[in-house]
Amino acid sequence: MNYKSRQSQLRSTLQRKHVDALLVTHLPNVRYLCGFTGSAGVLIVAESTAVFFTDGRYKEQAAEEIEGARVVIGKKSALAQSGEWLNAKAKQLGVKILGLEAEHATVAEKSQLRRALGSTPRLRETFGLVEQARMIKDREEIACLRAAVQLGASLFDVVLQAIRPGRKEVEVAAELEYAARRAGAEGMSFETIIASGPRSALPHGRASAAQIPANGFVVCDFGIILAGYCSDMTRTVHVGAPSSDAHHMYDSVREAQKAAVERVEAGVGAGEVDWAARQLLTRNGLGKYFSHSTGHGVGLQIHEPPRVARGQSEPLETGMVITIEPGVYLPQIGGVRIEDMVLVTDHGCEVLTPTSKELVVI
Ligand code: ZN
Ligand code: ZN
Repeated sequence: MNYKSRQSQLRSTLQRKHVDALLVTHLPNVRYLCGFTGSAGVLIVAESTAVFFTDGRYKEQAAEEIEGARVVIGKKSALAQSGEWLNAKAKQLGVKILGLEAEHATVAEKSQLRRALGSTPRLRETFGLVEQARMIKDREEIACLRAAVQLGASLFDVVLQAIRPGRKEVEVAAELEYAARRAGAEGMSFETIIASGPRSALPHGRASAAQIPANGFVVCDFGIILAGYCSDMTRTVHVGAPSSDAHHMYDSVREAQKAAVERVEAGVGAGEVDWAARQLLTRNGLGKYFSHSTGHGVGLQIHEPPRVARGQSEPLETGMVITIEPGVYLPQIGGVRIEDMVLVTDHGCEVLTPTSKELVVI
């Protein structure tokens, strides 16, 4: 990964914002900027230097992983160390204003940092500076995401084998997750959703002890982590013969998903993509049952900007990787969601998820 170029991109952003250095505490951002994958550490990116602070537990790991930053191993917490270090070096480095990732620091951390910093530098809250850059994936990240999507999608067969009337949703999830680990996944990117029968009407129906009924939809939404990058896909299958209403629901969601995918292109507002799906479902009388947004960015985290939601005027850009996942949820009856990951390109998008969207009947 090209950490140096990511850091220099961040430096230009900081300059524009009149911030002399950024204290990066959010671990996915730390990883993005210097490669550290551990669970305790902070990174300072200043105009002329980048310094990473952690404790003794991560001495070897930091030496192995970190590129483009000096490593300081200390006895105090990484945050306290970084504060004291900055207080000592601020003058020499010309750091008068220090950015703090406001969305990721607790009130306690902020006051701890204030104490460590003393009177200089001054703290300023920043919002989404690294996240902004992370929206556009570089070549290596796209390769990682492709590999994660491939591995994730290959597990759908395991899900299909596991779904049988009478089995518990958690048993299906267990088989999936075991197979994921065996196939080399570092973990699941979120809690697996296997929602069957009336539970499929819960957009976030985590696998429960409920038994799969003899007839109804099963929403299967899952993802894995590979080399730090997340996959995310949803397929909805039907157990038993689907009614004509069930077919109508499934076909409508499938068409809405297709309409949204076809709308994706660099320069198009994220809200327009959402609208494409929403409009189609409304036309089929199901618009009011589409209760969430159409998609989200995916990368080192499962939910990243941009939001593909109603009213989002931010244009999509080449290199973004987003999900397209409309759904319809009829309370007490059941639901359908279909989700792919797509890569935004200059003239459209590439659907990364290779899995068929034909309705599978079990
Ligand atoms: Zn999903
Ligand atoms: Zn998703």
